[in-house]
Amino acid sequence: MAAWLMGGAIVTIFEDYWTIKNGMQSWADVLAAQFKNFGGELILNTYVDKIRTRDGVAVGVSCKDNHYDADFVIAAGDYKKTFLKLLDTPSLLSAGLREKIAKNAVSEGIFTVYLGLNLSHDQLKYHLKIPHVMYFDAQPGLDIHNSADEKYFEKASIILYSPSLMNPALAPEGKSSLMVQAVAPYRWLNNWGGGNRQMYQQLKEEAMNKLIQKAAFVIPDLSAAIEFKDAATPLTYERYTLNTDGATSAWSWNPKNKFYKNFGNIYVDTPIKNLLIGSCWANQIGGVPGAIGAAYQCVKRIG
Ligand SMILES: Cc1cc2nc3c(=O)[nH]c(=O)nc-3n(C[C@H](O)[C@H](O)[C@H](O)COP(=O)(O)OP(=O)(O)OC[C@H]3O[C@@H](n4cnc5c(N)ncnc54)[C@H](O)[C@@H]3O)c2cc1C
Repeated sequence: MAAWLMGGAIVTIFEDYWTIKNGMQSWADVLAAQFKNFGGELILNTYVDKIRTRDGVAVGVSCKDNHYDADFVIAAGDYKKTFLKLLDTPSLLSAGLREKIAKNAVSEGIFTVYLGLNLSHDQLKYHLKIPHVMYFDAQPGLDIHNSADEKYFEKASIILYSPSLMNPALAPEGKSSLMVQAVAPYRWLNNWGGGNRQMYQQLKEEAMNKLIQKAAFVIPDLSAAIEFKDAATPLTYERYTLNTDGATSAWSWNPKNKFYKNFGNIYVDTPIKNLLIGSCWANQIGGVPGAIGAAYQCVKRIG
């Protein structure tokens, strides 16, 4: 990533990492409740399969046979799919822009292990000290661009985060929760087993065990304390967010792969009138601040 982005990482040494005390879902719930209070109609579990335009202007969306008219359409999902799959008239974009959107790299994926531990708040705190811990243990030969490296997760550094150290109410009495994460190469080992379900489960299990072994350097006897374990691969994140390759945070963080001219700016406007980007994809490196910034700019634009 660009060297200046390390500034944010350095701040976390002094301030730890900011998060939502009651968990990210609680924040989504607050936003949804307020949206409904303002008279908004929230339709969940419904895939928008078309962004409709008339004379080059966005006029609504479609979900199968249901058509919704709108003064503005705010795209809140994957940028590539918005323009390459959902837009009803692809020719509204120049061929050059279509190619740029198709070719530009997205942010790297991540592999996460979710653990429920039979360790009390104080026992886990004794080892972790603070909720977020980065354990830099990169081994020789580690290469994020090498999707064929079977030993990738053996070599990768890990990040540990305990939501229950942030807020004990997020785990049952006497227990604690822990996430262990490693950045993952694009489409590791033929995109996690080339579509073979059994192979996928096996690779997921292997990567999970590797990360648990590493985390034991920080929390000895971790394996013995595990009561629940599950993991999310980039394919899992893709299933939930619909982001290309399970992109964690919009476009690539590599300064050599810029989609936008300026890394820090928020770009909500699109070549299609009344179609705005209201998600993390309005910013090169996305994230929660990028998503909030984009939504705020959309509100200002619509007035
Ligand atoms: C494991 C992980 C860790 C992260 N850690 C951090 C962090 O520490 N700090 C940080 O700032 N950011 C972090 N991020 C990134 C951050 O979570 C995202 O950038 C941010 O949540 C994006 O918000 P959003 O509203 O733009 O999109 P999302 O939260 O992805 O929401 C988009 C929603 O739109 C839905 N959708 C997409 N297409 C359609 C469609 N056609 N029809 C209907 N629905 C659709 C998706 O299903 C999804 O629910 C992390 C991401 C991951 C995956």
